[in-house]
Amino acid sequence: MKIICIGRNYVAHANELNNPVPTQPVFFLKPDTALLPPHNPFFYPDFTKDLHYEVELVIKINKNGRHIAEKFAHKYYDEISVGIDFTARDLQARCKEKGLPWEIAKAFDFSAPVGSFKAISQFTDKKNIPFSLKINDEIRQQGNSSNMIFSFDQIIAYVSQFVTLRSGDMIFTGTPEGVGPAKMEDHFELFLADEKLLEFNVK
Ligand code: MG
Repeated sequence: MKIICIGRNYVAHANELNNPVPTQPVFFLKPDTALLPPHNPFFYPDFTKDLHYEVELVIKINKNGRHIAEKFAHKYYDEISVGIDFTARDLQARCKEKGLPWEIAKAFDFSAPVGSFKAISQFTDKKNIPFSLKINDEIRQQGNSSNMIFSFDQIIAYVSQFVTLRSGDMIFTGTPEGVGPAKMEDHFELFLADEKLLEFNVK
């Protein structure tokens, strides 16, 4: 399986990093080795001094497809969760400066912890799904799919023009504002609506 990540999908987050608001989705990939095995701590990598958290809604693809039309895209996923797109912000800044790809800042081992998946049908409106991140019992990020620039269906239509989607693939759909640095000993808790789907410690 592969992990597809959408960048800059919330206006307020694009603004906080001084990035332009995109007119087409921006995406990049993480390998399957970016998943954090269940019940493991996250070990702060030694190659960065500015590791940032980005909490995101994550959808799971349930059927293979390419060139998927937006009007059929809803048939390609039925489960949702929340995850962290860990980013070595210092390495990413250097990549951006030089116009280089972001993999060393985004695709490293365990950079994509994801919670357990839930039926998306529990939400009557896919454009109103709240989620949040607590660190050490304090809310750090709160988002809602209503604020996404590109919807789940638009993302699937766009990405599948370039990359075949396979059953089991995951799509991180972008982070709302409020990203910030992770610290050693932080306790992360990720919520979909009011339900906690993942927790782990940073060591
Ligand atoms: Mg992200």
